[in-house]
Order: sequence, then structure tokens, then C-alpha cells
Amino acid sequence: MSERFDVLIIGAGIMGCSTAFQLAQRGLAVAVLEKEQIGAGSTGKSSAIIRQHYSNELTARMALHSLRVYQHFDDVVGGESGFHRVGFLALVAAKDRAGLEANVALQQRVGIQTELAPADAVSELMPGLQQADLVAAAYEPESGYADPHLTVHAYANAAKRHGARIFLHTEVTGVRFAAGKVVGVDTSQGAFDAPQVVNCSGPWGARVAKLAGIDAPINSCRVQVAFFRRPPGHEAEHPVVADFVHASYFRPETGGLTLAGLIDPAEGDAVVDPDHFSETVDRSFVLDVGELLVRRYPAMEQSLSTGGFAALYAITPDWHPIVDEAPAGSGFFLCAGFSGHGFKLGPAVGLMAADMVTGASDPTFDPHMFRLSRYAENAPVRGQYEYSIAG
Ligand SMILES: Cc1cc2nc3c(=O)[nH]c(=O)nc-3n(C[C@H](O)[C@H](O)[C@H](O)COP(=O)(O)OP(=O)(O)OC[C@H]3O[C@@H](n4cnc5c(N)ncnc54)[C@H](O)[C@@H]3O)c2cc1C
Repeated sequence: MSERFDVLIIGAGIMGCSTAFQLAQRGLAVAVLEKEQIGAGSTGKSSAIIRQHYSNELTARMALHSLRVYQHFDDVVGGESGFHRVGFLALVAAKDRAGLEANVALQQRVGIQTELAPADAVSELMPGLQQADLVAAAYEPESGYADPHLTVHAYANAAKRHGARIFLHTEVTGVRFAAGKVVGVDTSQGAFDAPQVVNCSGPWGARVAKLAGIDAPINSCRVQVAFFRRPPGHEAEHPVVADFVHASYFRPETGGLTLAGLIDPAEGDAVVDPDHFSETVDRSFVLDVGELLVRRYPAMEQSLSTGGFAALYAITPDWHPIVDEAPAGSGFFLCAGFSGHGFKLGPAVGLMAADMVTGASDPTFDPHMFRLSRYAENAPVRGQYEYSIAG
């Protein structure tokens, strides 16, 4: 016998759990179906940087909304997100100066605390940062990073407190329709019925969409991060740094470590099978990202490499997600493809998805920009500047 709900959510990452929380709060009977465990996909491996630096008004507003949630997480969601406010520095070279200035102006217009930071201010914010090749920088004092495990579990628990049920080790294997409308899904644990299904399966987003007969351009791509123990004299936490000159980022990690990764469009070429890929970091990656880190923060020459790992981004052609009902009126919704920058947006995405599923007449965040048809219309989301894969 199948179980019946108002909404089925496929995937217990940040998007699935945040959406479940929002829908359950509105009194809907929600089930989250997860093939492994909570946070088993991109979310659990996320660098979880919470910054506001976006180049579209919608994403900037979503980032700001989400920051406010991270700042008051226990009151708004309940539990811990592990948010550390260490500040965020964006560093750019000459070709991106105009883009940076335009973005900072846009962000200020929507209420984000951010400003252009001259070299002496940057030196004060992060002593020892190498600036000789920099042309401009922006600083967000309110930003930082969170703990992705704490966050996603807190969302899952909050959803459960509002009546949602979470089924682990339950893989969705089919989506059932009758007369063009969703009626339920089949899973490794049996059938579930509901008139609405939300695909929050991240790097598996295209596969799950295919179960509903939808082609979604979401690639599952292998990306890596590496850790370095900061040397004596540099134990204190430093700001999060997005170094667009060297296409890399780094942030403090607990235990006196610095976590480093890339902001490189080439990461979109590393397409892998999300169920079969090497999670071990490549030695060459550790050497390369370590070299970029040392170039920007020379004190790290004395750091100790402490390994790393590989995980998955769900990358779309324009590095922005697909949040849409497809086909229109079917009750099957896509909420995937967050392309390496979705964690921070999770609180706002839950709201956007819940408004979409419930057909809210005045949604807080209109998902139109993230419609699936934008690719066929040749109207991808475009950034205002060359470093736009950051959103
Ligand atoms: C190394 C790394 C660093 C990152 N750094 C940042 C950052 O600093 N800041 C930021 O904002 N974002 C960052 N991101 C991106 C961010 O983590 C993701 O955009 C976000 O976590 C995506 O969440 P999701 O819920 O869409 O997907 P996921 O977390 O991948 O969740 C999808 C879930 O669906 C489940 N699933 C799949 N198929 C099925 C099925 N058939 N049936 C049932 N369940 C299924 C999976 O098991 C998984 O648990 C990073 C990502 C990675 C990998």
C-alpha cells in the first residue's frame, strides 16, 4: 500500500530540507525521500561560504535574505548553523574593476553591507595578504561561513517538528503521471502518492528529471578542496577570500586550518557519474591550489598540507539553477543545478520553492529568471562581469 502526502520532495540536501521546512510550516503533508542520508550529496561537502557578492538583483536579494536567516538561525529555523562571521573579501584584477564596482553598487541598492576596500583597508583586514597585482577589492563585514552538516540537519529537524517525514535510504526510481499530472513516485521502499513532486536531487537532478520525461541541462561535475594548517603566528581566523585573479578561494576551517578551492569555469568540464567518481583529492590539485594560496597569502608557504576531498557540483550552462514546474501544470517541479554556489541561498530557495509549489500570488522571490525554457530561448542568466560563475 502506498503512503499519501501533499508534496513529495526528492533529496535531503539543503534545498530539499529547506523546502520541506517551508511547506510543512504552511501545514502541508510533506515527505522527503532521500536515497542515502541527510546531506549525503553536495551539501555535506560544501565549503558553505556565506557571501553576498552577486551580480543580479534577485540572487543578491536571496543572498541577503539567507544571511539574515544564518545570523538568527536558532530563532528562525531552530538549532545551529555554525555560522562564523569572519568577513568576505573579493579581489579582482584590472579587467574586472568596472564589474566589481557595478556589483557593489547593485548590492548596496538592495541593502547589502558591502564597500570597495582600498589597499590599506585590505591590509588591516587581512595582514600579510599580497596585493601587488590587485586593482580593486570589495569587503562584506557581515559575511563568513557556516557548518553545512549542522545546517542541513537543523532544517531537517525543523521540517520534522512541523510534521514533515523524512525517509532515508529511499531511492526514487520512477515518477508516475495520470492525464499529464503527477500522482506519485516509485522508490526502492515502495510507492508514495502525491499531486506534487519537487526534484531537489542536486547533481542527480538531470537523472531524476528524466524519470519524469524532462531533459534538464544539469551536469554532475567533480570538484576538489584541500586543507592547509596555518603556521605558527597565523593561527587566528582570517576573512573568507575570493581571489578572482587566481580563480581560487580560501576560508578558515576549524582546527587552525585553511580550506582552499577553485572558482574556475573549467570545473564544469569534469563531468562524472555521480554514483561512481573518485572522492579522493588529486595530489596535483593540492599542489596547484596550494601554490595559488601561497601567491596570495605568502605566510602559507610554511603551512602543512592536511589532505582534501572531491565532491560534486550540479552545473547548468549558465551556472544558475533551474527552479520551475516542468511541464507547466504537471505538478512536477525542478529545484536543482545550483552550480557550486547554492548553499548560502538555501534559506531563500526553500521560500521560493514553497511559493512556487503552493502557487503563491505574490512570491517573495520570483523564480522566472530560473525557468527551464531560458536555454531554449537563448536567454541564459548573465553576470555583469567576467568572473560571473560566482553568480
Ligand atoms: C566542494 C564544494 C564546495 C562548495 N562551496 C560552496 C560555498 O562555499 N558556498 C555555497 O553557497 N555553495 C557551495 N557549494 C554548493 C552547494 O553546496 C550546493 O549548491 C548545495 O549544497 C546543493 O544542495 P542541493 O540540496 O541542491 O543538492 P544535494 O546536497 O546534492 O542534495 C541532493 C540529494 O538528493 C539525493 N538524491 C539523488 N537522487 C535521488 C533519488 N533518485 N532518490 C532519492 N534521493 C536522491 C542525494 O543523495 C542528495 O542527498 C559547494 C559545493 C561543493 C561540492
